[in-house]
Amino acid sequence: MEPQFCLLCGARLTKIQIESHLHFECSKCDYIHWLNSRPCVDAIIAREGAILFTQRGVEPHKGDWDLPGGFLELGEAPIAGLHREIAEELGARIEILKFIGHYVDGYGDDPYIKTLNCSYLCKLLSPVRFTDDDVVGYDWFPVDNLPPNIAFAHFKKVFEDCYEDIVAAS
Ligand SMILES: [Zn+2]
Repeated sequence: MEPQFCLLCGARLTKIQIESHLHFECSKCDYIHWLNSRPCVDAIIAREGAILFTQRGVEPHKGDWDLPGGFLELGEAPIAGLHREIAEELGARIEILKFIGHYVDGYGDDPYIKTLNCSYLCKLLSPVRFTDDDVVGYDWFPVDNLPPNIAFAHFKKVFEDCYEDIVAAS
């Protein structure tokens, strides 16, 4: 949703371009509302050529298949955030095997929310005990036979970039 009002004084914000990037500035005070991609983490938990997906219980893309993970908290390191998300969503522990890459993506239809996803290849160290938080279920899908309704577009690039690792995972 387009930012409307100044967080400091409540006056209307107006769109501005700074070095070709879109931001918003207050019409009354000096406040600038910077727009940045939001940092997120993804776990590619692989086993025998298959990937563990969670089913989203919330919008956007409610019901679609997601990777375990989520938004980082203020000041949180990506690896700490990934362990926290896996504990919250699945009640499980993981080993992080490898950093795969950074991927920019959208978040639903909102043009003012973009995500910067740090994606890690992982191994499950303990069984999934429950699904909770923003997740209503989970399942394993072979990397060569993924479900059609995958929540976020960058996942396909992630899987390409670590395809050999997924296929070789024990
Ligand atoms: Zn203001």
